[in-house]
Amino acid sequence: MPAVFRFALNDLPPEAASLRAEVREFLKAEFSSAAPVKRAKSWGGFDREFSRRVGARGWIGMTWPKKYGGHERSFLERYVMMEEMLAGGPLLLRFGTEEQRQKILPAIVRGELAFAIGMSEPDSGSDLASLRTRATKVDGGYLVNGTKVWTSNAHLSDYAIALFRTQVVPDKKHEGLTQFLVDLRNTNGITIRPIIDLAGKHHFNEVNFTDAFVPDDARVGNEGDGWKQVTTELGFERSGPERYLSSIALIRELVREVGAHPDDRGTEALGRMVASLATLRQMSTSVAGMLQAGETVNLEAAAVKDVGTTFEQSIPELAHALLDVEPTLTTGSDLQQVLGYITQTAPSFSLRGGTREILRGIIARGLGLR
Ligand SMILES: Cc1cc2nc3c(=O)[nH]c(=O)nc-3n(C[C@H](O)[C@H](O)[C@H](O)COP(=O)(O)OP(=O)(O)OC[C@H]3O[C@@H](n4cnc5c(N)ncnc54)[C@H](O)[C@@H]3O)c2cc1C
Repeated sequence: MPAVFRFALNDLPPEAASLRAEVREFLKAEFSSAAPVKRAKSWGGFDREFSRRVGARGWIGMTWPKKYGGHERSFLERYVMMEEMLAGGPLLLRFGTEEQRQKILPAIVRGELAFAIGMSEPDSGSDLASLRTRATKVDGGYLVNGTKVWTSNAHLSDYAIALFRTQVVPDKKHEGLTQFLVDLRNTNGITIRPIIDLAGKHHFNEVNFTDAFVPDDARVGNEGDGWKQVTTELGFERSGPERYLSSIALIRELVREVGAHPDDRGTEALGRMVASLATLRQMSTSVAGMLQAGETVNLEAAAVKDVGTTFEQSIPELAHALLDVEPTLTTGSDLQQVLGYITQTAPSFSLRGGTREILRGIIARGLGLR
């Protein structure tokens, strides 16, 4: 029998309501005077002081054990916090050594450390397992040579969670890959160069490694287990509210603009939009419930991301269709600027974290269709 999607209808637990009120209160104090276009950029922002304040409130490492500074709350509470705010990272907890957990996790929870993700390479994106950056075993560690691209915020981060090839296994590209936690600030042989994005901003980087020495204790998990670890991680990364709320600032502006006196077309469009949002939210909380139950979520997470990014990308078009307004970047009304920003960035929603075609391949395989 073919596999099926499992999206159970979860109610959020009662403690989620008080947490939601706390997070809202906090965000009100932090951002009530911020312009909508600043809020629209929140999913890609980088602000250490803000991270520390969030850490002080206990909203980083929410589901992690208390002995690593975590707060032992549920995935559904984490969901509510993310929904209100958008943030996250549980790799070391699952695959790290005890020493790595003790050293790194409490500092993450306090909001003191920032991480970049070093997976993609110039010739390896969707086909990630073809990556070629080599980590060659030497005394006490590894010498790394190669190049990573599209590394978000590497220039601002303390560490990169990077995937390197420690062994070449002919005709088995998924084998021989290993994850490392690379200290970006204190490792010789690493050069970080900016890549300017379509919107003219420096967020991406190219990270080059030339005989960069990475010690043994920076390896995360066993040699050769990198692929399994990375694919487990992506289940977390693909299912959260950040996968369908990137356009939320524009949704708010649309409701404000059209909602007061909608004509038939506006009523229908807003109704459809809210119905899609409610369905996606149900699917996403359902995955949070499965994570809480320790279940494998790869199939359902891929579905949330695919449907979620399609929804997010439809919002600028909806705004164009409903309103006679031109997008702008630095001048014009709040609506125009939010529309300008989201129109520019929306194409990237279905690339980051796995492209649409790759997700659909995972879904087809998960359902037994390929
Ligand atoms: C905003 C943003 C942030 C990012 N941040 C990071 C980061 O921090 N760290 C990091 O490592 N990477 C990051 N990336 C890179 C991202 O993971 C890759 O862009 C993505 O995996 C696609 O790889 P690619 O760009 O090489 O495209 P390609 O893999 O070359 O794909 C090009 C097109 O071909 C399609 N395609 C490829 N293979 C197949 C196939 N087998 N079947 C059907 N269609 C296929 C793809 O779907 C896509 O449409 C980021 C990307 C974006 C947009």
